[in-house]
Amino acid sequence: MNVEQQMVGMMGVCCYILSCENTSKAAIVDPGGDEQKILDRVSELGLDVVYIIATHGHPDHVCGNRTLKEATGAEIVMHEADDDFSSQSQVQSYFSMLGLEASPPTDLRVKEGDTISFGDVSLQVIHTPGHTPGGMCLYTTPDLITGDTLFVGGIGRTDFPGGSHQELISSIREKLLVLPPDTVVWPGHGYGGSRSTIEEERTSNPFIR
Ligand SMILES: [Zn+2]
Ligand SMILES: [Zn+2]
Repeated sequence: MNVEQQMVGMMGVCCYILSCENTSKAAIVDPGGDEQKILDRVSELGLDVVYIIATHGHPDHVCGNRTLKEATGAEIVMHEADDDFSSQSQVQSYFSMLGLEASPPTDLRVKEGDTISFGDVSLQVIHTPGHTPGGMCLYTTPDLITGDTLFVGGIGRTDFPGGSHQELISSIREKLLVLPPDTVVWPGHGYGGSRSTIEEERTSNPFIR
């Protein structure tokens, strides 16, 4: 799988263009703004985007979903718990307060153990609640897209509605740190850096050591 990272939007979200090496099929993860920049890159690479995947339902990660769906016809994918959570009225009003566009309805609800496939790529869904109830990471050897669960040298905030520090730490320890040490960590924001490995985080991330 090819992984391309782009910093987008006013919240500095790391958006990912994931594409199959053998076909033109692709998925876009967390298009949190700068939709035209993302679309330009997609057409430059000649990709056929079949999925728009949200690592979680927060407005800064899904605000580009509508524009990208309209441009590509791709299906929107979200964990079922965050699909329920982000359609609640308090989350919707938070979206409009920030002036960010809400996502169109989710086309494909996924859960732990599901796979999201495009071309020859099969992404494994790892449910990692804590930052939000339906936060998820996407894994295919050797790449791990971690959203706001795990950052380079940091972890996601847990003071938003539906957050739980205990759950977040358990998710990271039990489901991410058990992956091969050389797994590449691709975070949802670039606060501490734009990429890392499981080994680096296991040994030097002060929040989970
Ligand atoms: Zn978030
Ligand atoms: Zn975020």
